[in-house]
Order: sequence, then C-alpha cells, then structure tokens
Amino acid sequence: MIRQDAHRIDPKRRATIDPKKRQFATPTYKQQDYPHRLNIYDTPPTAEITLEQFEQWAIDRLKVLAEIEACSYRNKSPAETESHITPLLQKFLPLSSNTASSNGAADPRLRNERQKDHYSHFILRLAFSATEDLRRRFARAETMLFRYRFQKDDSRERRAFIESLNLDWEPVSEEERNQVAENLIGATLGLRRVDEETWYKVDWEKVAELVERRSVFMKRGKAYVPGREQLSMIMAEFTARLERSLELTSRALPRLDEDDRLTPILNHLSKNFGSAESVYSESEGHVDGAAITASSIDSLSQHFPLCMRSLHMNLRKNNHLKHFGRLQYTLFLKGIGLSLEECILFWRQSFKGKTDDEFNSQYKYNIRHAYGDVGGDVNRRGRGYPPYSCQKILGDNNVGIGQTHGCPYRHYSVDNLVGLLQSTGVHDKEVLRGVREDVGKQRYHIACNRVFEFSHKNEIKKVKEDGTWSQADLDTIVHPNTYFKRSYLLKTLAKAPPRGEA
Ligand code: SF4
Repeated sequence: MIRQDAHRIDPKRRATIDPKKRQFATPTYKQQDYPHRLNIYDTPPTAEITLEQFEQWAIDRLKVLAEIEACSYRNKSPAETESHITPLLQKFLPLSSNTASSNGAADPRLRNERQKDHYSHFILRLAFSATEDLRRRFARAETMLFRYRFQKDDSRERRAFIESLNLDWEPVSEEERNQVAENLIGATLGLRRVDEETWYKVDWEKVAELVERRSVFMKRGKAYVPGREQLSMIMAEFTARLERSLELTSRALPRLDEDDRLTPILNHLSKNFGSAESVYSESEGHVDGAAITASSIDSLSQHFPLCMRSLHMNLRKNNHLKHFGRLQYTLFLKGIGLSLEECILFWRQSFKGKTDDEFNSQYKYNIRHAYGDVGGDVNRRGRGYPPYSCQKILGDNNVGIGQTHGCPYRHYSVDNLVGLLQSTGVHDKEVLRGVREDVGKQRYHIACNRVFEFSHKNEIKKVKEDGTWSQADLDTIVHPNTYFKRSYLLKTLAKAPPRGEA
C-alpha cells in the first residue's frame, strides 16, 4: 500500500520477516473503484501510495477527528458541531457525491477524494489500534464522522450505498407484520398504522440503542425495526464492524514493528490524537508587523496562555525562574518572534538580583543554546529548539513542588488552578465549573480552549459576524504559540485573518 520511490522495500528484507507474523491473507495489489461516496471500510486498500501521502493523508484526517472529539467534549450541539467541522472537512477531507460531477464516480477528482478518505481511515486504524483507550476514541470519532456524512448524503446515493452493504436485515412479511401489529404500534412511538412503515427483523444487539430506549418490539431475540430507524441500524453496524476490525488490527500490529519506515509515523500520529500537533509549523506563532521586544512582553502577556502567563507572573514576582521554566518560556518567546538579542535583554532585566557576570556565566549560554546560537546538534544550529506544544508540556511527568513550568490545567491542584484563573480575570462561575469538569476528566487542553473562548467571546462573535474569520480559523488550540497569536490578532487586529492568510 505504501510506495516510497527512493526507498522501496528491499525484497530480501521482506523475505526475512518472521513467518508467524505474516498477514492472514496474501494481499492482491490493485486499484479500487469507489462507486459510492460513503465507505464502511470493509476492504483494506492495496494499491501503492507514497510515504508522503501516507503521512499527510493521515494528518489531514486526524485534524478532522481531533476537532470532532473536541466538539463532543465541549458538549457542542449537533448544529454547532456541523458548522464547526464542515469547513474543516472541505479543507482536509472533501468527499463529493456522484451528482457533483457529470462523470459521476468515474470523475478522477471524486476518485482521488474517495481514495484519500479510504486510505487515511486505514492508516489511522493502524495508529490507533494499539490500546483500548485509543481504539474506543477512534471508533467514537469515526462513527460521528460517518453519521455526519451519512445524514448529508444524497438520498438516492445513500439508498444505493445501503443496498451495496448486504446487511443482515430480514424484511418482515406482510402476514407476520399483521400478526404482531398491536405490539408494533404499542412499542413504536407516534405510529398509528403498521403499513406506514417497512419493517425489518434484526438481532437485538445490533440496535441496542433502540432496545435501551424501549422503542422497538422484541420477539425471540429479534428487534422489529421500522425503516425510519435506518440511521440507528447503520450506525450500530458501522461501529460494530469498526470495533471488531480494530481488535483484529491490534493483534496484527507486532508485524508492523519490523517496518522501520512506518512505525515512527504511526507512533507520532497516535501520540497526537486530540491535539493534531503535527500540523503546527515553527513559524506559525509569529505575528507579522507586531512589535515584539523585551519591553513589550509585559503588555503582551495578557495574550499568553495560562502556562506562559503563570511563568511570567512568577518571574515578575521572584525576579527569577528555575531552569525548566526558563527553557519553556524562552522557547515560547522565541516562537512569538522575540529576537535573540531582545530575549537576552529581557532575561537580563528580569533577573534583577544578579550581577552582569553572574547572568553571563549562569544564564546567557542557555538562552543562546535555545536559539541555536551555540552548541546543540548540527541540524539545529541557527534554529535551536522548537517552542513546546501543549502535547509536550502536558506530557511532562516531572513537574515537582516548587516548579513553575508545565501546564497549570494539568500540573496545578484544582483549587490553585481556579485561584490562578481568577487572578487573570476569569470569574465566570459557569466557565470555572466547566474547567473543573474538564480537568476532572483529564481534558486539559479543552479547559484551556474553554477559557480562551470565554476571554475572547466578543471578538470571536464579531469576526464571525463580519465574516473576516471562518470557523476553520477558530479550530481547537493545541499549541501555546497559536494561543498567543490568535489572542493577539483577535484583540488588536480583529479584522485580519489569522496565519497571514489574507
Ligand atoms: Fe499552555 Fe497548552 Fe496548557 Fe493551554 S493547554 S495552558 S496552551 S500547555
């Protein structure tokens, strides 16, 4: 399925793979046809793609799934979720219906869209089948994506797609339907006559949701489901098949360990579920035209996320920060566009109790090192290290007592966190209740986004209403430098689109 033109798999290496770990079936390499827009992902892809496509397609899908998950965590209504993910889907994972082209499914554009959708699903299946938690989250987000697309599908194409699935739904004969008519009317809300509907007999486990709601008649392990509940049945089918396949994939995973091209990509992807961090580029935090100097950091700190704001407050209070706090903060400041000279000046002025000699001998080297001015590996010379993402900061398990780095949403006690938020002007009871709940469920970056949305609610409303920003410009923040840039732009340049896309 993967092609890397410069590094094709060495046939000798392929032959040395442990035979016990071989796939269950011999793959047949072929291009697939995609007659339908929707896909239930029963057939794994077998044609070749490049390693670049492998990674990029997976990242694009991950971006969509991470946003779907974030919407659900933030209890967004179906309508809000739809308006949030529609532009993202158009941008990262478009999927047109056959009627979008006069050539229908034969149109190469439609074929490419469907191929990307198909392959990216299977790549992420590999990345997210390793643990039960990842499998559960992946199946949930994929089911929500499928539901959204299913509901949006052209009704004729949807019918053709369902017929193609050969589902195990047994149509109820007219005779049987009339025999159980009273039971059907009694169990089905709003039904007056049984002949208003087409009925199917389905194993009850396949429609557990309907059974739980007591909205179907049951007999001998079969649920009698009206055609109008087709969506529930399809969703149940989709989820059941996906969960089964994820289990099977997890058992086949050890074989992949032997492929040193794919394993690092898959590991990277699975680490970033929920943050889609891979889409952040180092220059993304820069704000064109903004004056970022040592003397402007105090006033700019109002735009900093809580992790950096708390470091800044500590620095001002104690005229000092410990090593890891300095490193986290220096890289962030570099990421917002503070030059090396200004950064050295900033730290020099901040460490009020130190002499020039002490500063130069104890601190200056580390600042220059972070910027790539000295030391480090050759590849980083001149660039230094990238600013830390939320994923990296949140994943730090070594933030001990007395340390000020890390993410306050994860590393502070809830009471200290709430106190810190209040000291930055967040007093709204509903927001603080939401933050407590997010933190209790370990959804730290969701809590951070909740606070961002609250602190910028007027500006967000304005840029949405005047159409200068789209929903895609307001996706979930997963990087402290994105937080800064978005806050700065919203508060000071409310009309300019982010990321210099104008
Ligand atoms: Fe900083 Fe990210 Fe934590 Fe927000 S979620 S405080 S940006 S580390």
